[in-house]
Amino acid sequence: MGENFAFLLPVVLTLLALVFLAVGRFGNRAALFWGAGYLCAAFGFLVPLLEIVLPVPVVALAADAAFLSAFFLYSHALATHFEAPRRTPLRAGVVAIAYAGAGIAVLVGQSLRVELFVNDIACSLLLLIAIASVRRRVGSWIDRMLLGAAMFVVLETSIRTMVFFVATGGVAMGEFIGSTYAYVMQITATIGALLMALAALASVAMRIVDRHRKAAEEDPLTDLLNRRGFEQVVGARAAGGEAAIIVGDIDSFKSVNDRFGHAAGDEAIREVAAVLAALSWPGLAVARFGGEEFIAYLPNCRLQDAHTLANTVRIAISERDLGRIGIDRPITASFGVAVTAAGDHTIHDAISRADRLLYLAKSNGRNRVVSSAADIPAQAGPKLFVV
Ligand code: GH3
Ligand code: MG
Ligand code: MG
Repeated sequence: MGENFAFLLPVVLTLLALVFLAVGRFGNRAALFWGAGYLCAAFGFLVPLLEIVLPVPVVALAADAAFLSAFFLYSHALATHFEAPRRTPLRAGVVAIAYAGAGIAVLVGQSLRVELFVNDIACSLLLLIAIASVRRRVGSWIDRMLLGAAMFVVLETSIRTMVFFVATGGVAMGEFIGSTYAYVMQITATIGALLMALAALASVAMRIVDRHRKAAEEDPLTDLLNRRGFEQVVGARAAGGEAAIIVGDIDSFKSVNDRFGHAAGDEAIREVAAVLAALSWPGLAVARFGGEEFIAYLPNCRLQDAHTLANTVRIAISERDLGRIGIDRPITASFGVAVTAAGDHTIHDAISRADRLLYLAKSNGRNRVVSSAADIPAQAGPKLFVV
């Protein structure tokens, strides 16, 4: 039974590696490192089965190389996953010293016991270095689960190797495949490998989903929400609640593009977005709705407060120095401000009112905020919208 199990582990680890490598094709580099790591581990567990045909020292050193590589790659994957410092020279140093130590133990000392001890401690150390490096970057509970699983592998590996080193008199060379050590190692290593692989897979999958969600809901030019993201955020919050809507549009932007070029125009859009993003209001959602059009949703905000905020933004935009992006004159923007009303069906009713007021701001000279018909000067005539 023990030997069947010995065959099972490389197969399971190879399958896990293939899953990681497949997931890595979605642009996740950490998954590629996890995949390569699990392939090395699979090889490491396969090698002892070749003891029938290969000399023991060769088997031992090949397995050491496989496991050190596996743990080097796991630690690399962890650091990559959490975008933490990789400490590659330190980890490479651990690998080199451990491999030299294991080599001496096998070839000179003829001690499988020392070789296993050196190798396992080095493997734990590699993972521990990565855990120390990433521990402050752990956010979600899935990330914590991954770190917990990695910690389990560290403890499992180091405790097991210490217990065996101290408690057993050592395993004679050539007896490894049938030894209790090998059997226990397979069981606990399987549990550790599975735990860490499943946690890493879940965490990698979350990253990929997050990245795609972000790409679908964020505007790449300004990092604000895009229309879809805005609908998502506001749709979830707006149900029945009172809120203010500010819509803004850069004034005479075609002439900015014509005179300074499209690239400078893009930079100007980013500048305006930065002013809007700096707004501070609980529950605020800001989006770029189209080319040079923006929208802000302010829950529980009165018309007067929203008007004041919009005016602050308007002044900040007009005072922004755009010389460093090659635009040697100020740009301005116009704003319409509206609040939700009793008869509204959705937040879009307030958005439509704000849009109409923005139109009034444009037709009444631009660089202004209009939040109600009362803002419009008398000469604008009777064609006014009542908020
Ligand atoms: P108004 O004061 O009436 O708003 O005049 P305007 O020239 O700004 O007119 P409008 O808002 O209709 O023009 C939008 C222009 O913005 C048209 C298009 O060339 C430009 N634009 C739209 N999207 C982008 C973009 O992503 N980058 C750049 N550089 N320009 C854009
Ligand atoms: Mg415009
Ligand atoms: Mg426009």
